[in-house]
Amino acid sequence: MNDCPFCNLDKQTKAILPLNIIDRYEVNILHSGKYLRIIPDIAPVIPFHILIVPNEHVFSMQTLSDYAKMELSVLKEKVSSFYKAINGKPALFFEHGSCNGDGNSACIIHAHLHCLPYSKRAYEQFYNRSNSSLTALISKQKHENYLQFEYCERTYYWEDNTEKKQFFRQLVSETEGNQRGIWQICLYSSESADNKAWVSECVYRWNNYFNKD
Ligand SMILES: [Zn+2]
Ligand SMILES: [Zn+2]
Repeated sequence: MNDCPFCNLDKQTKAILPLNIIDRYEVNILHSGKYLRIIPDIAPVIPFHILIVPNEHVFSMQTLSDYAKMELSVLKEKVSSFYKAINGKPALFFEHGSCNGDGNSACIIHAHLHCLPYSKRAYEQFYNRSNSSLTALISKQKHENYLQFEYCERTYYWEDNTEKKQFFRQLVSETEGNQRGIWQICLYSSESADNKAWVSECVYRWNNYFNKD
C-alpha cells in the first residue's frame, strides 16, 4: 500500500509527518523478523510504548499465517523480557481491531500490536473501563472486526462496538491522566516534546539489553 506508513517504514516520517518536524523522528527498527518487526511508537502513550507490526499489509493479527503467529509469540516474549528487565512491569498488549476500513476504532490501516509496560493496578482500571464500555465476544473466529488485549496470560476479545477512535490508547491515556491518546494529536500537543526523548530512551535501553551496537 503506497500511503501506508507501516508498508513504507523507511519513508515513515515522510508519509505521516509534515516537513518541519521530519528530522525530529528517525526510523528505529528494534527487531526485524521474517514476518514481523518491532518498532517504538513515535507517539508513545507512556514511556517504552512499542509496536509489533507484520511485514505484510494485513488488517489484523488474526489473519496472520500459523508461522507468523508463532513468530509473534516469540516477539511478545522478547518484549515482555525487556519490560521485566527495565522496570519489572508485565506487558499489556492490545490491538485496535481489524483495520479493514469499517472497523470502528482502527488506529492505522495496517495490523499492529501495541505493547506497554503496565502495572497490575493500572491494568485493573484499564480492564474495568473496557468491561463497562465493551461487549466481550463469545467466539473471536466469527468476527472480522474486534478489539483485543492481553495481560499476564489472559486474553480478551471484544466486539468492536465503540465509536471511539484508538479506543485502548485513549483508555490508557485517561488512566494515566495525560493527553496522549490520539497519536496524531500526541505528535503535536504540548506534551510532544517528550516523544523524541522517550523514543530515544526506549531504543537505547533496548539495544543495551539485547547487546546490540
Ligand atoms: Zn501497510
Ligand atoms: Zn493502534
